[in-house]
Amino acid sequence: MSLFMETEAPQHPPWYLEPFEGESISHYFGRYRRQEIISASTPSSLGKAAGIGTALSRWEKFHFNPRPTLKELQAMSKLIGVEVSKLEALCPPKGVLMVTRSTRLCAVCYYEAPYHRSHWQFQSTAECEKHQLPLISRCPACDEKFSLPSEWEQGSCKRCGMKFTSMKKRQIKAKENRQEQTRKAQELGSSPDWKSV
Ligand SMILES: [Zn+2]
Ligand SMILES: [Zn+2]
Repeated sequence: MSLFMETEAPQHPPWYLEPFEGESISHYFGRYRRQEIISASTPSSLGKAAGIGTALSRWEKFHFNPRPTLKELQAMSKLIGVEVSKLEALCPPKGVLMVTRSTRLCAVCYYEAPYHRSHWQFQSTAECEKHQLPLISRCPACDEKFSLPSEWEQGSCKRCGMKFTSMKKRQIKAKENRQEQTRKAQELGSSPDWKSV
């Protein structure tokens, strides 16, 4: 009789990595690949190992057209040991369009828990609802665009090293700018023209 038969909890392989609540697929797979036990260092090599071609590379750039198929999710699930339902939760809900040209951040959320949230990339998300602050997509110090969340190993700007957790001021400023624009627009009797931050 095997000792392993006495365990009732689902059997996870040693490389199993639990996704965080609301984590984006890009951030999750970045973390996944940085585990010491993992030999695949790129989305393409991991996708190849799962037998799903370049699909993972697309997802990590928030390209979900076409959407992940059940077959692809099952193949990935089999390889990394994460349930299909959890992989589905990393993807945007059906019909939700994603921002693909920039990576967005709420620094206050990141301070609370350092990972990229999937809903920050929803086109319908203009600000963090929790903190009522606009999301930012560039470093306040050097203006470099944020890299894909899969590369957020240090939690800082890849050019100048400014920590994501210390970027709250830029969001507050962006909020003030928006309020100012709204006020001006109201004075002129036209609708506000919000610049993206
Ligand atoms: Zn927030
Ligand atoms: Zn920077």
